[in-house]
Amino acid sequence: MNLHEYQGKELLSSFGVRIQRGIVAQNADEAVEAAKKLTEDTGTGWHVIKAQVHAGGRGKGGGVKLAKSLDEVKSIAGQIIGMDLVTPQTSAEGKRVHQILVAEDVYYPGDSEPSEFYMSVLLNRGTGRNMIMYSTEGGMDIETVAEETPHLIFTEEIDPATGILPFQARKVAFNLGLSGAAFKEMTKFVTSLYTAYVKSDSSLFEINPVLKTSDDKIMAVDAKVTIDDNALYRRKNLAELRDLREESPIEVEAGALGLNYVDLDGNVGCMVNGAGLAMATMDLIKQAGGEPANFLDVGGTADAARVEAAFRIILKDPAVKAILINIFGGIVRCDRVAQGVVDAYKNMGDAINVPIIVRLQGTNADIAKELIDSSGLDVMSATEFQEAADKVQAVLA
Ligand code: GDP
Ligand code: MN
Repeated sequence: MNLHEYQGKELLSSFGVRIQRGIVAQNADEAVEAAKKLTEDTGTGWHVIKAQVHAGGRGKGGGVKLAKSLDEVKSIAGQIIGMDLVTPQTSAEGKRVHQILVAEDVYYPGDSEPSEFYMSVLLNRGTGRNMIMYSTEGGMDIETVAEETPHLIFTEEIDPATGILPFQARKVAFNLGLSGAAFKEMTKFVTSLYTAYVKSDSSLFEINPVLKTSDDKIMAVDAKVTIDDNALYRRKNLAELRDLREESPIEVEAGALGLNYVDLDGNVGCMVNGAGLAMATMDLIKQAGGEPANFLDVGGTADAARVEAAFRIILKDPAVKAILINIFGGIVRCDRVAQGVVDAYKNMGDAINVPIIVRLQGTNADIAKELIDSSGLDVMSATEFQEAADKVQAVLA
């Protein structure tokens, strides 16, 4: 689950990480109030207005702007709220901006040398350990840095048994070329950042840029935070931060029905029990010349109600030209699933307007095939993988 920048910063701050301070606002008037409050609290005269959407590269898309007066706060806030922000990380339609962060301007006027660093914390799946990835080349696209100047990216792996050790924090500060007060600040920054990552069950922190001000403060100016979904059950306060407006509506609806659904770009809808079989099914569809329209794991109990829910979700995608149902009957019996498909189909009537290919294999597969073949419905049955693929190919042709 991704957090908004303002939520990520609040999380960091609660663990003692210094952040660029800001207040979230839903409209231009709130933005002006927020700006006044920030001026009282921090003395800042200038403010940055930052679109709060789940996408990076906002600066490039016009979603981050400097306001030098309250009038500018008001007009920029008015411009950004409600806009469809297009960045290198969004689709061409962009993402609707519902709220903004009004933040203190931390790039002091006259500051000739603000340094921007890059820092992330993430899991190195190769070694099974968390690592801190950091670079002197902050504020820019880290992918470009990785391609063109990979020697400017450093990593520091952390032993889960000890957590980050003081010498590691010093190494980070040293590699970033810091000395004096900034060096000390950075050791504190990276230590509390790592602690925040572990204690919040996050799977990614990306702070770009980390800023060193001319008076040697180190702070997070941006924050991309991803919380591990599997930990949300024990991080209720974080789970509450979820913003459904940022997620695909079909995926949200499927999630509420207990279906594991991921929207994809293709034309063949899939309904499968088990994530591994679902992935194999997507390969199968590709081999047959189609493109999967979704990933959908209906789970262990593929009864009529679930099958019907799955049909409705799949058919919300207008690109779907055929549906492939691929069920392995291990614990669940194939004939029950077949009955579920037949019942759901009859129940939905005209709502189903694409051919359906059902491949059932395992316990009672033969009875299941019989059930489908004698149903009189526009459903093709198959027992072999290849047979199912051929039938998909035939209906797409
Ligand atoms: P992103 O483009 O989505 O990654 O958004 P960021 O939060 O990283 O902001 C984009 C850029 O805006 C940063 O790299 C900074 O150069 C700039 N920026 C952010 N905060 C301030 C600020 O307080 N003052 C000024 N002048 N620029 C800022
Ligand atoms: Mn950024």
